[in-house]
Amino acid sequence: MLRLTWMLSFIKQMLPLSVRVNLWRLRNKSQNLRQRLNHRLTGRCHVCQGKNFRRYSNPVVARLPFSFYICTQCGFIFALPPSNLSEVYAEITTTEFGEGEATWNRHYLDSINKYTNAPGKLLEIGFGNGSFLKLAHEEGWEVYGAELSAPLVNHAREELKLPNIGLGTIEELNYADGSFDVVAGFNFIEHVPDPKGTLEGLWRILKPSGIVVLMCPNISGIYHLLMPEILADNDPLKISWVPPHHLSYFNKTNLRVLLENSGFTVVGDESHLMSSLWRQFEVNIGPQVTDSKLQQLISEIRDSPSQKGEARVEKYREAIKSLLVERMTWTMLSDLSALEPLLGAEVGVLLLGKRQGE
Ligand SMILES: [Zn+2]
Repeated sequence: MLRLTWMLSFIKQMLPLSVRVNLWRLRNKSQNLRQRLNHRLTGRCHVCQGKNFRRYSNPVVARLPFSFYICTQCGFIFALPPSNLSEVYAEITTTEFGEGEATWNRHYLDSINKYTNAPGKLLEIGFGNGSFLKLAHEEGWEVYGAELSAPLVNHAREELKLPNIGLGTIEELNYADGSFDVVAGFNFIEHVPDPKGTLEGLWRILKPSGIVVLMCPNISGIYHLLMPEILADNDPLKISWVPPHHLSYFNKTNLRVLLENSGFTVVGDESHLMSSLWRQFEVNIGPQVTDSKLQQLISEIRDSPSQKGEARVEKYREAIKSLLVERMTWTMLSDLSALEPLLGAEVGVLLLGKRQGE
């Protein structure tokens, strides 16, 4: 059986890219037809609970075999989950993200320390390679971890020697109500099929006034806003932010609304250092280079104050795009991280919410 699977995957690799892309399109289009129909009839927006959706598309999305929807009330963009979601994560193995990882783990923990009194009981959901949990453990937090992948669970238990590591969803792991001071999910909430239901589950296992910490990609960040141009000639099979992995597309506004609709008050926005996420690509691209055109653009934006967010990105769109598309290297993307905080269009959103009420 293994041999057959291996042979099929070998044959698949031999096929020309265009055939592989077509097969992938066909397979994904035929899946989940029933779920699509069902959602159309009974679905609710996970952010605002609205009932009206339309299909969403842009030049990149149009090339993908997935159906995306946008809520006409709040603008939340999402895709429907496949039926075998647990299987998707069951066998994922360790990924190391190089030097950048220490930077963003440090920022996550500093952000948590800023809104809590002392190290307490902390759960990370979808802990991946476990590097954040390890840091929190070393700094005196009583750590717990939940993960769907057996190899990653084994890595955390055996290599990192972390305590309280569980394999499964938070429902399956059955944590008692009011257990934790902090529940964290980094690159997590965009992967779950029901973000509101998931947050309500986190609310339940948090202590009164406990803190939920979420970091996810920012759909209103420079990278996502320029996606059509960046990916114009790229192989769609290499896009990592599509279903079955990413199912929800958040920005600061709708992640905040989602938290507030799920029993939390947003107490912190610590997105400003999330441009350090670019540093994961340094592993592949080597050291950064300084670009004089980029430095010029940064000074220009700094000297001309205007509103932040998408409107401001729009104003500088052509200038940023020409730098990006002209050079089209990860080094340039990495350098562009300097622009993100200036524009309020960081690659990731990092929000902290305090549990409210009973
Ligand atoms: Zn909505």
